[in-house]
Amino acid sequence: MKIICIGRNYSEHAKELGNEVPEDPVIFMKPDTAVLKKGSDFYIPEFSDDVHYELEVVLKISKGGKYIRKEAASKHYEEIGLGIDFTARDLQSKLKNKGLPWELAKGFDGSAVLSDFVSKENYDLQNLNFSLAKNQQVVQNGNTKDLIFNFDDIISFASQYFTLRVGDLIFTGTPQGVGKVSENDFLEAYLENQKMFGLKIQ
Ligand code: ZN
Repeated sequence: MKIICIGRNYSEHAKELGNEVPEDPVIFMKPDTAVLKKGSDFYIPEFSDDVHYELEVVLKISKGGKYIRKEAASKHYEEIGLGIDFTARDLQSKLKNKGLPWELAKGFDGSAVLSDFVSKENYDLQNLNFSLAKNQQVVQNGNTKDLIFNFDDIISFASQYFTLRVGDLIFTGTPQGVGKVSENDFLEAYLENQKMFGLKIQ
């Protein structure tokens, strides 16, 4: 299983980090060992003093393929969920400034938090609200209508380079409002009004 992630896919978020809005999707990967075990707390890794939450809609690939056309892309996933793309922002900035890959800042153990997955049939994917609360204050409030590259664009683009397999996950990008987590924070993720998970930070 591989985890494909999209960066800078909401223009307000790209701006908050001082990045340009991209012409093509910005893609990076996390290894499968990044997935946080279900029910576990998240432990801030010792190599970072600035770990950020990034709440994202996650697609689960249900049908493999390569060179998938945009028009056919929706046939390749049946379920969606929410996830957090934890990012060691201090380390990422250091790597970015040197023009180096981001993997150490993005792919560390526990950096991919996942909810259970639900059928996409119950949702309007072009107008999907999702939000993250930190200690009961809403910190991120996204809607998929603000995506720069929509789910079909992403699947089509990624599959030009990587064969997609059943079970692969795609983190589709985070909206604005990313921020730091501290010990004892409690995060809660909502898809529309449904709570998808709660997570304790250690
Ligand atoms: Zn992200």
